[in-house]
Amino acid sequence: MIIIMKSDFTDNDMKDINKRLTDGGLQGQKIEGTEKTVIAVVGNVYPELRDEFSRMDGVASVVRISKPYKLSSRETQPNDTIINLPFNVDVGGSNFVVMAGPCSIENHDQLFETAQAVKNSGAHVLRGGAFKPRSSPYSFRGLGEEGLKLLAQAREEFNMPVITEVLSYRDVDLVAQYSDILQIGARNMQNFILLDEVGKTGKPIMLKRALAGSIEEWLLASEYILSQNNPNVILCERGIRTFEKATRNTLDLNAIALVKQLSHLPVISDPSHGTGLWDLVEPMSLASIAVGADGLMIEVHPNPEVALSDGPQSLKPDNFDKLMKVASNLTNMVGKPMAAKPH
Ligand code: PEP
Ligand code: MN
Repeated sequence: MIIIMKSDFTDNDMKDINKRLTDGGLQGQKIEGTEKTVIAVVGNVYPELRDEFSRMDGVASVVRISKPYKLSSRETQPNDTIINLPFNVDVGGSNFVVMAGPCSIENHDQLFETAQAVKNSGAHVLRGGAFKPRSSPYSFRGLGEEGLKLLAQAREEFNMPVITEVLSYRDVDLVAQYSDILQIGARNMQNFILLDEVGKTGKPIMLKRALAGSIEEWLLASEYILSQNNPNVILCERGIRTFEKATRNTLDLNAIALVKQLSHLPVISDPSHGTGLWDLVEPMSLASIAVGADGLMIEVHPNPEVALSDGPQSLKPDNFDKLMKVASNLTNMVGKPMAAKPH
């Protein structure tokens, strides 16, 4: 349910509503829009209670949210969510944002060389994995805290916000100390305890879609974070598993276009994992822009042949530079130009 407030509601009206919500065992979240203030209410709201709220002072109307996902729904919040990152980078709304960097942080020189290159080409956010979810336990699983430290050094050196994955609830506080955005990987989309914990940090969270996650399950997963009173959720389409084996995954462009209708949250496309093939990254980036994505996440490596993870899908810096030039033309054409450079 959402409670839409009259334009002249008072502090006392709000206090009475909050008290009634608490008495009824309900959770309310105030959302202040440009035109009106609403309270998104989650919990079991039976019809008589809804009527009671509609009669309270300061209330203009009460609307039932038909979707199972509530806080992420455009029914609750019609305007796009815009997330402010450090270094003056905004995600969502009319801003197009590019996150780029290596799949895994391997060492100082590999990270810094990549960071310098992606910054020069106009990337907004530096990515780099320190805790890596690998199909085989014998593959490189990341540098852990040492990798986080390198990422934090690169953040200061290149003045750009950083994103990295947190794999386990036990590492949430550690990763939150170093990273501006916490990434929840595809394999953890429905790790509900981890979602609760990252939600509590209040930090921006990028929630990747699971390999076999439906759109509804993805949006319901985002509710776990949002319902911790953390509105800073970014969604990331990274391809789903289909019968097709010629590409690593199938980048679901339908999902990007549909989720933009269903939800106010920013949607980033990851054509690197979505295809698994570096020479499909540019065409699928452009396709993602055309269907309404709010940004891209691209894996870049100075020397993909020797990368410790995801080399075959990583762009060399010069190909990334080429992609950025074509992409910025298209983002201008669709009316969502590249966000201001980090500064
Ligand atoms: C990654 O971003 O390197 C990653 C492991 O992504 P995903 O969770 O989408 O597989
Ligand atoms: Mn990767």
